[in-house]
Amino acid sequence: LFIALEGGEGAGKSTQSTALAGWLTEQGYEVLLTREPGATEFGQQLRQIVLDPATGDISHRAEALLYAADKAEHVDAVILPALRRGAVVITDRYVDSALAYQGSGRDLDQADVERVNRWATADLRPNLTILLDLAPAVGHGRFQRRDRIEAEPAEFHERVRRAFLELAAAEPQHYLVLDAGTDRETLAALIQARVAPMLPP
Ligand code: C5P
Repeated sequence: LFIALEGGEGAGKSTQSTALAGWLTEQGYEVLLTREPGATEFGQQLRQIVLDPATGDISHRAEALLYAADKAEHVDAVILPALRRGAVVITDRYVDSALAYQGSGRDLDQADVERVNRWATADLRPNLTILLDLAPAVGHGRFQRRDRIEAEPAEFHERVRRAFLELAAAEPQHYLVLDAGTDRETLAALIQARVAPMLPP
């Protein structure tokens, strides 16, 4: 079982993915909680490059390929081996982040970004994507630090939010869309209710 959490900055993805992993572990499942960019050593180096403000304005195609390279290594070295041994894999960000940030946030062609990412991930798709939807202004207020992407203007983050919602609307059976402004216990309960029937016996 492969679950992705998606959403903008400060939406609570890491809090909810940690809570979900804890709940599944308590029930005896082997859980792999992971994130991108930066789940592997190679990915950490890429993460450093793409998020460092000192990297400056790089080509948007180059940026998209760095994220895609991180994803390819993440899938091959971390996600697929865990799925093969029967673990439940929970990832904090996945392909939708690329489609939203690089496809819609930047000026790249959505179909190109999708093709590159399908290739990078060997077309491995999550069984469920949990979208924590939040107005960017609220999410930004939750953080002090600003990485190179967070420092993008508000319109960029508005496009990203809209893209996430559109992806979910196109395939509602594969998504759980939640208002990230809801309190964390309620969110955790809603996530558990959606995941429970998907669990292997
Ligand atoms: O989830 P986390 O905050 O660790 O993500 C790191 C940064 O990478 C965020 O600023 C996010 O906006 C950015 N990102 C991106 N494109 C992706 C994935 C993450 O711009 N495909």
